[in-house]
Amino acid sequence: MITHAKEAEKFNKDEARVDWHDDTLWFVRQKRDRMAHNIPEWEQLREKASQIKNHTLSNLDQYLIQFEKQALANGVHVHWAANAAEHNQIVFQIIQKHGFQKIVKSKSMLTEECHLNEFLINQGIEVIDTDLGERIVQLRHEPPSHIVLPAIHLKKEDVGETFHQHLGTEKGAKDPQYLTEAARQHLREKFIAADLALTGVNFAVAETGGIVVCTNEGNADMGAHLANVHIACMGIEKIIPRQADLSVFLRLLARSATGQPITTYSSHFLRPAPGKEMHIVLVDNGRTEQLARADFRNSLKCIRCAACFNTCPVYRRSGGHSYHTAVAGPIGSILAPNIDMRKYADLPFASTLCGSCSNVCPVKIDIHDQLWKWRQILAQEGHTGTAKATGMKLMSAVLSNPDIYRFVGSTGLWFLRHVPSLASNSLNPWFKQREMPEPPKESFRDWYLKNRKKPKGE
Ligand code: SF4
Repeated sequence: MITHAKEAEKFNKDEARVDWHDDTLWFVRQKRDRMAHNIPEWEQLREKASQIKNHTLSNLDQYLIQFEKQALANGVHVHWAANAAEHNQIVFQIIQKHGFQKIVKSKSMLTEECHLNEFLINQGIEVIDTDLGERIVQLRHEPPSHIVLPAIHLKKEDVGETFHQHLGTEKGAKDPQYLTEAARQHLREKFIAADLALTGVNFAVAETGGIVVCTNEGNADMGAHLANVHIACMGIEKIIPRQADLSVFLRLLARSATGQPITTYSSHFLRPAPGKEMHIVLVDNGRTEQLARADFRNSLKCIRCAACFNTCPVYRRSGGHSYHTAVAGPIGSILAPNIDMRKYADLPFASTLCGSCSNVCPVKIDIHDQLWKWRQILAQEGHTGTAKATGMKLMSAVLSNPDIYRFVGSTGLWFLRHVPSLASNSLNPWFKQREMPEPPKESFRDWYLKNRKKPKGE
């Protein structure tokens, strides 16, 4: 079974890469901090965003219907998908109806979640990811490792080698400008040849029926404007009530994601251009189930900025692929067990519960509390594995009885002093990455009994 710990072990083999990955993401986190601190009303913005999302989630049914009504009135085709399979079928049927063979796609974590690329490629459709980072990982047959920076686990040398193999650039080339230009030329041809453009959705406005797509490369616009058919795929939680609410979310999103004041392109799509066709696919895929879980409902406020990834000490040093799910990091570890508790039972444990994720989240999701709550549910449902379940029962017996606790403490100390190899061996995962501390000469309790100031009369 794939687990975060096993996958992280692979990533951790290359220590230099781990350090570099850690430093790079911390740099992004610091950029985010500077941007946030430049806005005196930052905390009010976070609170406002959280309240808007809270209100929207409480009235999601009404806002979805309002959005559909407005979008239909704008001449957009609206589709509803209960799960990933339905979503993929809807997209495929639109492509089939037109007899198309080639599509371009801008970044959409929803389509990653639904494994749309694999599905369409198996049907014989050419699918080209047009976000630069996404295209790099697509050429390497890898999933993205980060929701905003999909190729952040790769160095420019890796990209140079990938482009040399697939795009015919010079062997050993690693100049970012040269490589980006090569990607630009390559993608231009794909944009021009594409029959259909697929995009994600950052925000869908119930009041107008319009959608907003944020990119830094303009690739969503380029695809949607050149192709005759545009499909926008969105999770149902992307709804916001009013156009005016965008002013709150657009200010928070780019600052939290990359430390920019605004994304380079915040593109508004309202209706198809004359003679063209526009579709919106609204996808549930477990979201209504999550909405019904009172403890995890807030996770649907997420605007996918990845600030919680960049600050997480576990993510930074284990890499996105170790989470073995489309949305990695702290928020992914809350969303994934909702879809498959057994398969993703390891993820809520891939956290120090330090709370840094909750502190940076622009919509104030209580991320670390939810991770802790998942751990309790997973233990109750028997998804934590025999070793952990037995260990926890033993710990519970030891910690709830002072006599047993004292006996185990003094025995453990004796063994640490006289047979240190019992702890310092490769079977102890904690020891693998650390030096064992010198065992103290006496326990704190013994020291305290000897040194405490006795109250008068004792
Ligand atoms: S949980 Fe919060 S910090 Fe993490 S991606 Fe979502 S909005 Fe950003």
